[in-house]
Amino acid sequence: MDIVRTVAEVRTAVAAARKAGRAIGFVPTMGALHAGHISLVDAAKADGTFVVVSIYVNPTQFGPNEDFTQYPRTFDADSAACRAAGVDLIFAPTNAEMYPPGDQSRVRPGPLAEPLCGAFRPGHFEGVCTVVAKLFGIVQPDIAYFGRKDFQQARVIEQMVDDLRMPVRIATCPIVREPDGLAMSSRNARLTPSDRARSLCLYQALCIARDRLGAGETSTGRIVAAMRAHIAAHADIKVDYLSLVDPRTLESATLPAPRVLVAGAIRVGDVRLIDNLTVGIDG
Ligand code: AMP
Repeated sequence: MDIVRTVAEVRTAVAAARKAGRAIGFVPTMGALHAGHISLVDAAKADGTFVVVSIYVNPTQFGPNEDFTQYPRTFDADSAACRAAGVDLIFAPTNAEMYPPGDQSRVRPGPLAEPLCGAFRPGHFEGVCTVVAKLFGIVQPDIAYFGRKDFQQARVIEQMVDDLRMPVRIATCPIVREPDGLAMSSRNARLTPSDRARSLCLYQALCIARDRLGAGETSTGRIVAAMRAHIAAHADIKVDYLSLVDPRTLESATLPAPRVLVAGAIRVGDVRLIDNLTVGIDG
């Protein structure tokens, strides 16, 4: 496994892999890797690709009052995990490599980026689209792997790739959870033990929604109220949103519906956590 920090080095390694007849699989990450990230690597390996993982905490997708500086950075453990998982190349660029002096272009997503997290993190998905477009231009992958943990992000990227005619296939992979159901997240490392225990109420609220949908409930208002009531029983948790939406358009769901995305975001202390369930697939 090679670890490189420049665009030129990526291009050389990828060109060699292509010359050897390999398709290029790409897993973009911000590091602090866990089993959720590795599941994406496993999917890329299963497809037989030359696997490139990027590790880069992208400043443009963080708002001024967000956790860019506190975001966990664990490069040595990350590279060991990548090596163990059979990654072929790690691209860990500097900010100067990704946003050199004079850099000015940005990729602005459309309405898919407006609801859910978009409503609470202005500019977030523009930062995501911009860095992913740059990374696609650098790595030129055949397939790029995204987790459904960040469901809206995956939809926004799928739309960007369609709209900008980027020659890459987007593969989405299931959410990997801790044994008790908490969605794995790099930010979980920032939770105190008691906040970690309280955080589980988000997944439990999603399960309440799934069960109500399964029982034939057709009022989104009643479902969201039940989710809120569950979370309200847990002190010190602020809800950003709890929503039932169409998984394609991310617009409010009209029940009954064959597939519903139940998504939520909470703040536990200063840690923001997101999770979702697609009822009709997962549930
Ligand atoms: P991040 O490092 O948080 O930017 O995430 C990098 C990629 O890993 C994204 O495509 C995420 O959706 C994916 N990912 C993060 N957590 C999980 C998880 N628990 N299960 C599956 N994929 C995940």
